Amino acid sequence: MKKLLITIDGPAGAGKTTVSRALAQRLGYRYIDTGALYRGVALAVKTKGMNPQNDADLKQLCNELELGFVVNEDGLRLMSNGQDISDPIRTPEITMLASSVSARPVVRQYLLDLQRNMASKKAAVFEGRDMGTVVFPEADLKYFLDASPRKRAQRRFDELKSKSTQTLDEVERDIEQRDQNDSTREVAPLKPARDAIVIDSTDLTVEQVIKVMMSYIE
Ligand code: C5P
Repeated sequence: MKKLLITIDGPAGAGKTTVSRALAQRLGYRYIDTGALYRGVALAVKTKGMNPQNDADLKQLCNELELGFVVNEDGLRLMSNGQDISDPIRTPEITMLASSVSARPVVRQYLLDLQRNMASKKAAVFEGRDMGTVVFPEADLKYFLDASPRKRAQRRFDELKSKSTQTLDEVERDIEQRDQNDSTREVAPLKPARDAIVIDSTDLTVEQVIKVMMSYIE
């Protein structure tokens, strides 16, 4: 079968990560979590104690930052200048900081090139917010995965339970704030591409979503 470049965009908690990973595995494709890259930039900003609104500093930071994925016995890991940062990028603080640095054009430009380089051989599922609209407008198949805000908060809450002390209401508030940031920013706002297949996963299981996606692929 022809090797495809597949994009999956959508808001936080819509189930993108679970579905993207499972779809990539089913197809024998690489899975690229582009949100992790924004989180990697956010972690570097925090480590350096930088102002996340200062574009000159952000540019300098990106120039010195080497982000990349490796696959080892623990699965897909994000490396930053040789260090495994897959766990520290998942805290609520880094989550919110990623949302704010992702609105800065210098950061988006830096990651745009990096993401396109990662797609050179196709046979990949790219998960993010602007994969189908900005990074890969020529992708072979574009999906936009959505779900109701309450359902998304509940999923994120269940996922974070062991790692965070946030209540369901706090998780929901963070999600609403991120939705607001991500969909109203000037550069690459979150929205479905014109040619995206929109799937509402509110009442669907992972397997049902994959089934819908596979029906288009086949
Ligand atoms: O997907 P995840 O929740 O890990 O993404 C973290 C943040 O990174 C998002 O809230 C969004 O602001 C940003 N992001 C983005 N564009 C992408 C992927 C993520 O702006 N392609």
